[in-house]
Amino acid sequence: MKQPWRAKAACNGLDPTIFYPHSDEDEDATDAKSVCAVCSVQNECLEHALGFREKEGIWGGATERERRRIIRQRRRAAYAAAGRRSA
Ligand code: SF4
Repeated sequence: MKQPWRAKAACNGLDPTIFYPHSDEDEDATDAKSVCAVCSVQNECLEHALGFREKEGIWGGATERERRRIIRQRRRAAYAAAGRRSA
């Protein structure tokens, strides 16, 4: 298995459609997020989705919009850190 964390996923065996809600709105993502909230590999799952730029679905408890926000925040932090190093 390429991603051993998947074996510990709380969503294993659940209906995958709950992780692909019709919209990116919080109320549509509630069921998936409640599963992710108790998943022991939530962080690994989120990092996977961020690293592979997963476009759809709930990963690591985050919607696509929330993952884009995390990526932007990390990018800004990296730029700021680089600026501090070169100053
Ligand atoms: S964080 Fe959510 S989507 Fe990711 S493995 Fe766990 S239950 Fe599944």
